[in-house]
Amino acid sequence: MSGIHARLGVKRRINAAGTLTRLGGSLMDETVLDAMREAARGSVDIGELQSAASRAIAAATGAEAGLVTSGAAAGLTLAAAACIAGLDVARMARLPDTRGLRNEILMPRTHRNAYDHALRAAGAVLVDIGHNDRGTGAGIRGLETWEIEAAITPATVAFAFAANPENAGDLPAVVAVCRKHGLKVIVDAAAQLPPASNLSAFVTAGADLVVFSGGKAIGGPQASGILAGERDLVASALLQQLDMDVAPARWAAPDLVDRAKVPVPPHHGIGRGFKVGKEEIVGLIVALERFVARDEAAATAVLRKRLETIAAALPDRKTRIVPGRVATLEIETTDGPRAVAALLAGDPPVHVGERDVARGMLVVDLQAVRAEDDAALAAALAMAT
Ligand SMILES: *Cc1c(COP(=O)(O)O)cnc(C)c1O
Repeated sequence: MSGIHARLGVKRRINAAGTLTRLGGSLMDETVLDAMREAARGSVDIGELQSAASRAIAAATGAEAGLVTSGAAAGLTLAAAACIAGLDVARMARLPDTRGLRNEILMPRTHRNAYDHALRAAGAVLVDIGHNDRGTGAGIRGLETWEIEAAITPATVAFAFAANPENAGDLPAVVAVCRKHGLKVIVDAAAQLPPASNLSAFVTAGADLVVFSGGKAIGGPQASGILAGERDLVASALLQQLDMDVAPARWAAPDLVDRAKVPVPPHHGIGRGFKVGKEEIVGLIVALERFVARDEAAATAVLRKRLETIAAALPDRKTRIVPGRVATLEIETTDGPRAVAALLAGDPPVHVGERDVARGMLVVDLQAVRAEDDAALAAALAMAT
């Protein structure tokens, strides 16, 4: 231990469990840090900086516009707020009180997850549709479009789609039904990167708003995210996130905002507590540019090589490299929970993926492991498994 962690009495950990928020998410590259350091030393108009971010996000995603949020979860709250309030400043001022407004968001039971709270935080009421036969193993039927139509009421405003590689193929049919009924489609693609092609895939499939985490694969600041989509919806989200302590007579609306539709500045909105600093906005832009420019095949090859070296240090264990969207290493142990406890008790503590630990399977994900820690990680795994 050294430096800031030692001074604060905080353990530095080896996080081989992926870009988990509770362990600090991704580790930033020096280029991103340099840009953030420079950003920290200059005053800017945050609305103007967010308009620059919008151009960068639009270029990376193919969406009309984009916004840097304080994370994908904040992006979901702002997405719901944008769908419910639009560019109406009085509605923005009322949230999360949505009585009398179109406030229902449809969500298939197969997509429900613990981040749904973020949608409800804007005042949205979630309406479950369909069954969860695939999740429970009861059957093979998934989301069917008639179930969407049957759930629509005059208060329905949007559809929330939690994307994963298995359900992504359902999105075009969902979009078609929602378009027909004037509903917006919000896609949670927080962790659907890489591949970088997914930055545009959901927009291309017709989603109105898509959220990504900045602190996962993109490698931006931990507390950053992206909301990309239709211009007026992103403008609504921006207005509900920005500080609005402005003199109305001198309000210079960000470029993204169509002043003809927003004649007066709104008050601080529902997203004011999710403010994003100049450092995070700049860091996210630079990290996103790097992520888009990255040679994905070369990055995968480097990752595989590192995993192979770690596997070679565990010669008598059963190991397997799983290609996946991000290659990982599976290690079979006789007692998964005991191995995880031993790794966590080590110095430094080591975190591995615990999804399959009950089956005795540890998963090593190197996205948030510095290459110089690989040897210590391998040694810890050899001791604990
Ligand atoms: C990580 C994650 C989020 C939250 O992302 P943050 O950037 O940490 O706010 C939301 N939805 C899903 C599916 C996620 O995996």
